[in-house]
Amino acid sequence: MTPPQRTQLKAELERLAKALSAKGGRRLEPNKTDAVERPDEDDDQPLNEMNQSIASNRNAHDALVLGKVRAALKRLADEPDDFGACLDCGDDVPFARLKAMPYAEYCIECQGKRDPSGRATRTKLTDYR
Ligand SMILES: [Zn+2]
Repeated sequence: MTPPQRTQLKAELERLAKALSAKGGRRLEPNKTDAVERPDEDDDQPLNEMNQSIASNRNAHDALVLGKVRAALKRLADEPDDFGACLDCGDDVPFARLKAMPYAEYCIECQGKRDPSGRATRTKLTDYR
């Protein structure tokens, strides 16, 4: 990895850390439009519970990513020359992968081995862009 590439990833990691910290703990608002369109109030409670369950899962996911982002920033500060190497096999993680997910810890092959579903990429990758 070249120093400019490292600088680029560092900036992206710092941006992610800031964005994820800022929205931590925010709860999803109940869907008021939906309540107006469907006057049967009995339906509102399950809907709100569902929304908050989604928001809660979302916050848990954000916290997980934030942890990875902070770990990546620490690796970058402690061992800048090793940053971008797979934590498992030590091979360089492709820069394209790091650009999409600068907190990636493993190369695609090792990530695939670790992920029980066998998927190497995250489906929610675009959430933070
Ligand atoms: Zn690997």
